[in-house]
Amino acid sequence: MNIFEAELKNGRFVIPECSRCQKVIWPPSEFCTQCFGNVIWRTVNDSGILVEYSSKDGKMFCIAEFEDSIRIMGTLNCYKTPVIGQKIKISSCGFDKSPKFTFSSE
Ligand SMILES: [Zn+2]
Repeated sequence: MNIFEAELKNGRFVIPECSRCQKVIWPPSEFCTQCFGNVIWRTVNDSGILVEYSSKDGKMFCIAEFEDSIRIMGTLNCYKTPVIGQKIKISSCGFDKSPKFTFSSE
């Protein structure tokens, strides 16, 4: 289990940022994919944008984008019909064999 997964398991969504060139590395890696510098793990800015959604068996799923580059999939809790491009937040995250995210509309 890497740092990303261990932090997720504790309910924290952290992303690696290069200490040398400040690039956010996604998918997460322990080293910068651009300059091979060391990364610093920091919490993500949790104000995201809804990119896509679908519903299945009464549940809603979506792809959300954070910090203009990080796209993640998860479950969406929304009381109104979602609108592509609307703001959403991460309401919970975890790790169980794969990353788990729940989003909610703001
Ligand atoms: Zn770098």
